[in-house]
Amino acid sequence: MTAPACDVLVAGLGPAGAAAAAVAAGHGLSVIAVDKKRTVGVPVQCAEFIPLPLARHARAAGVLAQRVDGMRSFLPSGVCAAAPFQGLMVDRAAFDRALAESAARAGAALRLDCRLAALDAARGRATVRSRAGAVMTIAFRVLIAADGPLSMVARALKLPALETVDSRQYSVRLSHRHGETDVWLSDTYPGGYAWLFPKGDVANLGVGVDKRRATDLKAPLDTLHARLVREGRVGREILSRTGGPIPVGGMREQLVAGNIVFVGDAAGLTHPITGAGIAAAVVSGERAGEAAQALIACGDTAALRDYEEDIRDQFAESSERALARRRELSRAWNAKRAREDAVQRRGWIAFPEYFGRSQTDIGAHGVRAPVARTVPA
Ligand SMILES: Cc1cc2nc3c(=O)[nH]c(=O)nc-3n(C[C@H](O)[C@H](O)[C@H](O)COP(=O)(O)OP(=O)(O)OC[C@H]3O[C@@H](n4cnc5c(N)ncnc54)[C@H](O)[C@@H]3O)c2cc1C
Repeated sequence: MTAPACDVLVAGLGPAGAAAAAVAAGHGLSVIAVDKKRTVGVPVQCAEFIPLPLARHARAAGVLAQRVDGMRSFLPSGVCAAAPFQGLMVDRAAFDRALAESAARAGAALRLDCRLAALDAARGRATVRSRAGAVMTIAFRVLIAADGPLSMVARALKLPALETVDSRQYSVRLSHRHGETDVWLSDTYPGGYAWLFPKGDVANLGVGVDKRRATDLKAPLDTLHARLVREGRVGREILSRTGGPIPVGGMREQLVAGNIVFVGDAAGLTHPITGAGIAAAVVSGERAGEAAQALIACGDTAALRDYEEDIRDQFAESSERALARRRELSRAWNAKRAREDAVQRRGWIAFPEYFGRSQTDIGAHGVRAPVARTVPA
């Protein structure tokens, strides 16, 4: 391999990295984006729900699977509450591929099967290694760290590892089409929850738990699966399995280190209660692409500080609220209280109590928060 130089090196071609590469290349910067995967987006490690504002990224053929009109939350007592959380279910591999194709069309050079193996931050050099063993050093002016929850860039900079929960998910057949996401809140899933997200004729059925509190994810997922089979909601056959770590400890203390910018999961932008991170990945990636352009155009590192400020403005409030709720729940998980509906309501985004308002439906920023109403299970 030759030894290229570029304005922007992007480590990771998930939604954050692809969005960053597309914006930076769109501004005419020379961009190289590397990913250790052979195929963008594969294997999928996701429940595949995106909020409506991301619909602009779900237009490519094969991306959109179905619309979701609301969320049902099942409390420990069995009470089911419905909330109007709308969104889209996507084919996540096609979603990621579409974003990467936009980056390539904008002029970014994508190198798959290429792992970022070492970093010399002071000299602005990164070593990448292909699966076949070829090694190449790339000189960069800005490095965008979009390498997910276990970020190698963060490790190389000796930054602390992110706190994560573990997840396990099956794809199963749905007996009837379903228009809502279902969520189960219970001490069976300490530090997390269980979900059934419908995707046409199939659904993603998963659990997330804090491994310090429960080491076995298979047993609770199998138990939930068996129950839904008995209820005639899903098929017995497991079509595929996936899972992975989800950051839940909130944003990194620093999103920028010199000329290195953290985005998406690598920045800790996943919501600490829901684990949702695709929207934050795309938004932060696009904003980092803009910041790289500003830095290279004017040579002023304030551009990267602006990125950090903007991202904190957008995400810190909801992230901090979610962290506070995680801390409250973490004191309850090993106690009987975790089986009380009131405790779970305060820890879940569908309920007004989560926003600190027990009797009102006014959420953060004076916006009316989605209010759950009790419905037959
Ligand atoms: C089971 C599960 C279900 C989820 N469900 C949802 C959901 O329904 N909705 C939602 O919004 N979020 C969900 N999330 C979270 C969501 O998937 C992430 O927040 C999102 O993928 C973050 O995007 P990203 O680009 O930051 O990181 P990633 O998508 O993780 O991309 C990082 C990329 O970096 C690459 N990489 C890593 N290390 C290196 C290296 N050293 N060199 C080169 N490449 C490297 C990886 O191969 C990967 O392609 C879920 C997560 C899990 C695990």
